[in-house]
Amino acid sequence: MDAKAGARERLEAARDSLVGLSHRIHAHPELGWEEEKSSAWVADALDGAGFKVQRGVCDLPTAVLARAGSGPLHIAFCAEYDCLPGIGHACGHNIIAAIGVGAAIAAASVADEAGLTISLLGTPAEEVCNAGGKVLMLERGAFEGVHAAMMVHPAPADMAAPPIIAAAMFEVFYTGKEAHASAFPERGVNAADALTVAQTAIGLLRQHIRPSDRIHGIVTRGGEAPNIVPAHTAAKYFVRAETLDKLDSLMPRVHRCFEAGALATGCTVEITGGDRPYAQMLHDRELVALYRRNAEALGRALRDSPAAGGGIDLSRAAGSTDMGNVSLKLPAIHPMIGINSLPAVNHQPEFTRHGVSADADRAIFDGALAMAWTAIDAAADKAVRDRLLSSAG
Ligand SMILES: [Zn+2]
Ligand SMILES: [Zn+2]
Repeated sequence: MDAKAGARERLEAARDSLVGLSHRIHAHPELGWEEEKSSAWVADALDGAGFKVQRGVCDLPTAVLARAGSGPLHIAFCAEYDCLPGIGHACGHNIIAAIGVGAAIAAASVADEAGLTISLLGTPAEEVCNAGGKVLMLERGAFEGVHAAMMVHPAPADMAAPPIIAAAMFEVFYTGKEAHASAFPERGVNAADALTVAQTAIGLLRQHIRPSDRIHGIVTRGGEAPNIVPAHTAAKYFVRAETLDKLDSLMPRVHRCFEAGALATGCTVEITGGDRPYAQMLHDRELVALYRRNAEALGRALRDSPAAGGGIDLSRAAGSTDMGNVSLKLPAIHPMIGINSLPAVNHQPEFTRHGVSADADRAIFDGALAMAWTAIDAAADKAVRDRLLSSAG
């Protein structure tokens, strides 16, 4: 039996337990940095499959590092498992975790004959969008010696190399002064007005930014009562641009909108975060091509053209991930795998419900096998292998 057939056979044997893992994580959604159960279940699954498992690596209690095999080409699969506030696994990270574990188990079963070392990195807190798990694990050495990193993310439809742009998340705090809103308003300094001015300025700024830039946020504190002039307000905002360089030029313009709110009202403003942004994704072209061929061999249709989104413009569908930061350091891929969810899309509660559907469960098997096969192909192709061996992270 060749290595790819061996990997498939091992994955078939693990299929039910991987679906069980996905459903368990889905039923117990945990926010970023709080993924105690999810990370433990991922670690347990790899423990049981003969991996050397370390929990709480890089001083991150919910990060996992598992390793198997001793071949020269070292491939890491990333598993995310954090949820979103209020809407559970609406980004399908339960599926990512099961795909990562499945790919690792399948590839590890043939690692030595294929010339592979396999790592599974359990990477917390992807959704926080500032200093996420992969950003910190990169800094703290978890990717050292790794020649290429891969993960597969669920989406409405399959895409080999989806647009992934840079993003920064920061918080804004205004401080003014309370007063009776009717009797003594002249004694108040209105922190809610400061936010209104900032949001108006951002609205006007939109005319003058690139079509690919994004600015979006929420008010997290808007005031305490309508008869008290709000003295404390807060907001969380994302700024995104195609690249970190473009983000660098956009961020100060958005910050000035928040400063305008303070200037106009006499409030003080404090901005925190945004200092450890997510980078754009550089998809490794050869690994993408291998993944595409393997996914197609499993009968999947990969749609990287905007027309194929079933009414949704997939070319507009740019998200951000800390896998981008990984991709700037070492060859990496981040294909999307379809779970046939349309009209439901990521970050909708309807997408959460699709995360345990038959299509989602099939995506676990297909995504894991396509990724394991991609690792095996990369090790078998001398040109690809030699290039990856010379580019350790
Ligand atoms: Zn998400
Ligand atoms: Zn996600």
